[in-house]
This record gives sequence, C-alpha cells and structure tokens, in this order.
Amino acid sequence: MFLRDDQICLARRLIMESLLIQNGLIVDGTGAPGFYGHILIEGKRIRNIFGQDQVLPQTRAVLDASGQVIAPGFIDMHSHSDWTISLPEHDRVLKCLVEQGITTIVGGNCGFSPAPVSDKTRKLLGMDHFNLMVDKPLAYSWNSMSQFFETIQAARPIVNTAHLVGHSTIRFAQADTLRGKLTEDELDNCLDLLLYCLDDGACGLSFGLGYDPGMYSPVEEIEAFCKIAAMANKPVAVHLKALSRISPTYPLTYLRPHNVRALKEMIRIAQKTSVALQVSHLVFVGKRSWPTAETCLKMIENARKDGVDVMFDAFPYTFGNTTVNVVLPYWFLARLPQGYRSAWARLMLRLELAIGFRLLGFSYKDFQLMDAGPSPWQDMNGHRILDIARKKDLSPFNTVLGLSQASRGQAVVLLHTYSGAPGNETVLDAVLANDLCLFETDALTRFGGHPNPSALGAFPKILGYYVRDRKLIPLEQAIRRMTSASAERFLIKDRGILAPGKKADVVIFDPRTINETPGISAAPAGRPKGISHVLINGQHVVKDGCYQFGVRPGEVIRV
Ligand SMILES: [Zn+2]
Repeated sequence: MFLRDDQICLARRLIMESLLIQNGLIVDGTGAPGFYGHILIEGKRIRNIFGQDQVLPQTRAVLDASGQVIAPGFIDMHSHSDWTISLPEHDRVLKCLVEQGITTIVGGNCGFSPAPVSDKTRKLLGMDHFNLMVDKPLAYSWNSMSQFFETIQAARPIVNTAHLVGHSTIRFAQADTLRGKLTEDELDNCLDLLLYCLDDGACGLSFGLGYDPGMYSPVEEIEAFCKIAAMANKPVAVHLKALSRISPTYPLTYLRPHNVRALKEMIRIAQKTSVALQVSHLVFVGKRSWPTAETCLKMIENARKDGVDVMFDAFPYTFGNTTVNVVLPYWFLARLPQGYRSAWARLMLRLELAIGFRLLGFSYKDFQLMDAGPSPWQDMNGHRILDIARKKDLSPFNTVLGLSQASRGQAVVLLHTYSGAPGNETVLDAVLANDLCLFETDALTRFGGHPNPSALGAFPKILGYYVRDRKLIPLEQAIRRMTSASAERFLIKDRGILAPGKKADVVIFDPRTINETPGISAAPAGRPKGISHVLINGQHVVKDGCYQFGVRPGEVIRV
C-alpha cells in the first residue's frame, strides 16, 4: 500500500508528537486494579494503552516509568484559583498546583465567581468579597461567563479550568437589594442570568450560604436557583450556612448544632428540586463541633439511600484558610472602621468572642497568620496569634483586632481545629475515608504571604500519608476520588480517566516517596516529594521533577 504525500506528512507529524510512557503501574482513575503497562500519547490525547507483553510502536520520545504509578491528572474540585488565573503572571502562584499533580481546577466556589459582571457589580468592586480571593487587581474586562473564559484562554492558563457560577456573584450583577429577599423582578433577572451562564458552559452553580449575602437568602430563593440548575442538569456546590456547632447565621438561642441544621436544610432543598448536591468542604470547625460529624455523615448516606444525589468534598488538613475578619460578628463589622476605636464596641466584642470561642471549643492559639495583607505585619507571616501577641506585647484580642484594622480585613489566616487537631484526627479520618468524599485544595492562592499548605501538598499527602503509610484508603479508590469521580460530578467528559481518546492529562509519581513537605514552625510548606512528571493536554509541565516555565497548555473546559 502506498501512502499519499499528505498522509505521509500526517504520519510523520504524529510520530514527531508522540510519547510512549513505559513500564509503569497504570492506575486508570476508574477504581479498577492497577496493572503494568505502557501509554502512547499523540498530540493532546492518549492514543493507546498497552499491556506488558504487547508489541510497542516506534515513537519520537520514550519515558521510562519503572517503579512508578501512572495516573490521570488530579482534579482540584474545589479551587479558588479562578481569581488568579485570568492574570497573565498567574503561573508564579499557581505552579505549586501543577507541581502537586493537579491538571484541572474547578473554580467559582462558595458563591463567588469572577464572572458574570455588570455595571452594578463594578460599583461594588471595593467590597471585601472581591479583595479576599486575589491580592492583585483584576481587569474585569469581561461581562459574561463566556467573555471571562476567553480572557482566561488569552492568559494561557497553566492548568485546565472549569467554572461554577456563584449565586452571590449573580445577585451582585442583577440586584439592587444587597442583602435579604429579592424583589420579584430581581429574582427573575438573576435566574435569567444563571441560565445564561450555565448555557455559556459553567459546570454548575455554587452557593456561599455562610457568607454575606448568601447567609441572608431565604429558602425560596435558594430553591429557585436550584431548580434552574436541576433543569440544566448541572450540580450545585454549597458552602453550608454553618460549618460548626454554633454560627452567626442562626440565632444563638437555637441550641441544637447549627451545622447539622444547615446540612438538613440543604438536603431537603436538593430533595425538593432534584438537583445534584455537592456539599463543599465538609469540615467541623472547633472542638465542640467534632462530635456532630457522625450525624452529618449518616445524614448524607441516608439521603443517598432515599434517592438524593448528594456527595461532599474535603482536604486532608485540620486547618483551613480564611480572613481575619471571619471571627468578627456582623454587628461589629457594620460599625467599622469606627468600631475599632469605640471602647464600648471593643468591650462587647471581647465578651462575645470569649463566650463564642468557649461554645465552639476554639481559642486564640488556633489562629495562624499567613498573609498580613496591606499591613506592616508581614514579618509575622507564619506565626500563631499568641506568638505575635507576645512579640508585640499585646493581648491576643488586641492582636487580632490590630491585624484586622491594619490590613483592612484582608489578612489571611489559617484557622486550626477543623475536624480535629494533631494527634486527634478521627473525625478527619472518617471524612476522608468515606467513599462519597472527593478531594480538593480549597486554597486561596495569592501572590503575597505564606501559601496554604494545601495549595502545595493536598494530593501528595493523601497518596503518601493516608494511602501508603496509614492504609486508610486503597490507592485505586483514592485516585478515583481525585480524578474520574470529580470529572463525572462536574460533567467533564474527556478527562479523569486514562483511556484511548481521552485528553492526555497524566501524573507519574513514585508511590514509595510521594508526600507533602509540611512547613516547620513558622516556615512555609515546600514542594511535595515523589512527583516526577505532569503532562497537561500532552505537554510536559513538570519533567523529571522540574517545573517547565513557559509551558502553558491549559484549556478552558466549557460544559
Ligand atoms: Zn467555602
């Protein structure tokens, strides 16, 4: 048989762009047992997978993966890096994601997505909501979700990105009512815009019901939004009204655990509207919330038995990132900045925090400053509040308040006591071991300060500490919950599995050495260990353990 010139040309080009990864343990992301074999990549896609004894084709490049696992690229199913990724220089802060094996992020979480934007939104850009997630100004050159996607693609993303649309973002874009019940017209406009965004390729809807303005939204509004998502066959990811036994979102006089009530309410809404419910970052904040974990996990399992499509996600740490202002009650926030100087307000706040912390099982030592933001406290990054208080000769209360004031509420802290503490991690273990738990970083990725350790090491820690060292989760199942299960949740069709025809997002790691590199004392966490190669859409972004600057093959995933 003779080939035409153009066919020869095509064949040559394919051989030029082909890569054979040989002799690895292939864990394909489906949960099936791993097997030894080889993977042929051509261009952006996986062309074929071969067993050990099959005849292998000639390729331009060969990579020996002996002794290593070949897995699909990890999907960070709850990311906040969508706030950075439209900036052309995002690779500086987001390279740590790729270095830990993440090839796709799902952004737009907790009710806040950077798009859509309207003239109404532009008047609100000074609000804290828009400054917490990113510490550089965004262009907001887009209006629609689709235009935002084009901006990201033009910024040449280093990872693939899929996006939820945020309920709060839609409200800001369409409603003059900032808090509480929308007028009928406003609600109609919001629902129209939601449909438009889902149509533009958003992979679902997110709620931030523990934050302003989501916390003031009546159940009817949440239901109306959920109905539209269900109609479009897309999931909702929900930051619940409460993540702890007591919270500012329910009256203090409600004595039963607030987080249990919040979960129950959301499951009821999912049941009523038939929407797929993804409970975001299932954490139990404060010692006194830990005993509620069993009830919550049972509630989710029972709801599934009753036909509700509910799952959840978590990160493998007993801390999470947030702003310093998260502990300040709304009456105090509403009085700022004068409140900082009012002796009466400070006294009331001091008392309220003392009572609240006691009820929650939380104390000042559980605060760790990560980024002092626009304040002169940058040299304190990484330190616990008690250390800072000692160094500055202040009380812990005055330290927190001083930090809030100096950074205009933008200082980022890690709060500890999330689902456990070092040496007491049974709740976190139960969450992570549950088969319905998908994995994530939930990290704020900013240019300044110390990064959340989760941004550097969440996935390697699961594979090293939980899978290998403690055998809490079988390898194949852990990888499934980092890849195909997350892809399926967000309707991402051609990723998350190693199979012929799928996009070539691939991670190669040494199962004997993979792990995070935790920070020591106040020093930040380091690069994880054991990941030798990361390919995104067939291109090497990490090669022989080295990050390849300038290689930016990410794609925007429209669903
Ligand atoms: Zn959240």
